[in-house]
Amino acid sequence: MFEVQNQPPPLESYDLLHSDTVLRDAVRREGAAWAEASLGALGATLGKAEFIALGFTANRHPPELKSFDRFGHRLDEVEFHPAWHALLGIALDAGLHSSPWAKPQPGAHVARAAGTYMLTQIESGVYCPIAMTYGSVPTLRQSPPIAEAWLPLIFGRRYDPRFMPAREKYSALIGMGMTENQGGSDLRTNVTRAEPAGDGTFRLHGHKWFMSAPMCDAFLVLAQSPKGLSCFLMPRWTPDGERNAVHINRLKDKLGNKSNASSEVEFHGAHAELVGEEGRGIPTIIEMGNYTRLDCAIGSSGLMRQAVAQAVHHARHRVAFQKKLVDQPLMTNVLADLALESEAATALTMRLARAYDEHDEASVAIRRVVTPAAKFWICKRAPFVALEAMEVLGGSGYIEESVLPRIYRETPVNSIWEGSGNVMCLDVLRAMARMPNVGDVLSRELNDAGDARLKAFAGRLMARLSGAERNDEAQARVLVRDLVLALQASLLIKHAPAFVADAFCASRLEGEGGGAFGLLPRGVDARAIVERAAPHTAA
Ligand SMILES: Cc1cc2nc3c(=O)[nH]c(=O)nc-3n(C[C@H](O)[C@H](O)[C@H](O)COP(=O)(O)OP(=O)(O)OC[C@H]3O[C@@H](n4cnc5c(N)ncnc54)[C@H](O)[C@@H]3O)c2cc1C
Repeated sequence: MFEVQNQPPPLESYDLLHSDTVLRDAVRREGAAWAEASLGALGATLGKAEFIALGFTANRHPPELKSFDRFGHRLDEVEFHPAWHALLGIALDAGLHSSPWAKPQPGAHVARAAGTYMLTQIESGVYCPIAMTYGSVPTLRQSPPIAEAWLPLIFGRRYDPRFMPAREKYSALIGMGMTENQGGSDLRTNVTRAEPAGDGTFRLHGHKWFMSAPMCDAFLVLAQSPKGLSCFLMPRWTPDGERNAVHINRLKDKLGNKSNASSEVEFHGAHAELVGEEGRGIPTIIEMGNYTRLDCAIGSSGLMRQAVAQAVHHARHRVAFQKKLVDQPLMTNVLADLALESEAATALTMRLARAYDEHDEASVAIRRVVTPAAKFWICKRAPFVALEAMEVLGGSGYIEESVLPRIYRETPVNSIWEGSGNVMCLDVLRAMARMPNVGDVLSRELNDAGDARLKAFAGRLMARLSGAERNDEAQARVLVRDLVLALQASLLIKHAPAFVADAFCASRLEGEGGGAFGLLPRGVDARAIVERAAPHTAA
């Protein structure tokens, strides 16, 4: 029998908030210090071995579609493992699906962002219905009678997995159906029809090519009504207490996000109610899109944090060539580079979340421009961070039990859904063109605090943003990447220790950069950066 040696202890029994200096500081800085105790409690729960295990279990037992009962009656239900329900129970109990709307207060969106950032580190699939429910509220409010009926349920904190009319439940979750087979980015191509039923409601006929979390209680759906593309709320049960005519054709066989179900559906005269103005479906549902895009940035930042925490934790225990891996200079460089990416993503995400708590003109401009920019760049970086973190664990990183394969498979979806990379970059250009004050807002946001590197970088960027390049679609990714890098540098210069800001500026604003991590130039304090990123488990 061989002796087990030189293996790290599992990363568990830790508080995901207080073991994460960057997150904790951001929570305080961005206006949610009041939530620290409850976030710490959530972080400590999620970090327990039994809750970490729930994430593994929910992914090992993916949901199953039950189309019919044994007699041949339609069911169109999806069965989830109890681990999925347990995780959703934790998320709702913490209010991650609606707390900023149920209890509005300064810092509410930041506090909720910190909670979902921690949740996604333990299990990402449940984040999908949580994000959609959170995002649905501003859209639902565009129809006061609908809001009056549904918001009390959406604000409920007692998760209710029963498949029954929502009005009989303790709480409700909301999904969305926009993407059709023939086009998801260009929603004007939607062909699903909405026919007036004569009583003020509509009947939907058509399909959706992607409709995730199909056991949600209702869905915001786009369909062509007599006045054009409109937004509807389509419940799973009709007001008469019948199953609505929503047929689930099949569940997608996905790369990752295995615990969650994503379905292809058909509507055969499904009951639905108009939300917002008829014919203005895209502007109505896009309200929701801003919040779900923010959630993509939060989700990818959280996944990067977990990948980096796992990598640093491993390297602090594993010895190779007579030294801890963390002390091998080249490994220190790799870990520090990963930690910088993660810290910059977290800082920007939490700053952006604060813009959702504030309502001045500058915050509106930041929400409009920085949300798609952050979604683009942060979600693009996440798979690379996961990949490199996996390698830090060597062969064990490639093994499912290490969690890194799950994180790696999870990361691309945040980039694809709710507007893929190119669509996000084009959206940034559009927003820049439409908002005359955005240049001033960004200039203020990019305050260089006397740092010459940011001053030069931001100066060039602002010139490009106000010049012809802003209309050059082919260069949109370059421009948006640089905007994000400048914003991240500015945040780190203002709020992070100098060794972090220096290394970020030296590697991201100057220098060669490149296609891998571990390329930090000489002179950066890589050891200090890694020490800051370590998940200190004795919190
Ligand atoms: C796991 C998962 C869950 C999902 N869940 C849902 C859901 O619940 N509800 C829902 O409605 N949808 C959902 N989606 C669908 C998702 O939002 C769409 O796949 C996405 O918006 C892209 O649409 P599409 O697949 O039709 O690709 P297309 O629109 O065909 O785009 C393909 C590519 O072309 C690029 N592109 C498009 N236009 C341009 C342009 N003008 N210039 C340059 N490039 C361009 C896009 O960026 C993209 O990379 C889900 C997707 C996934 C993977």
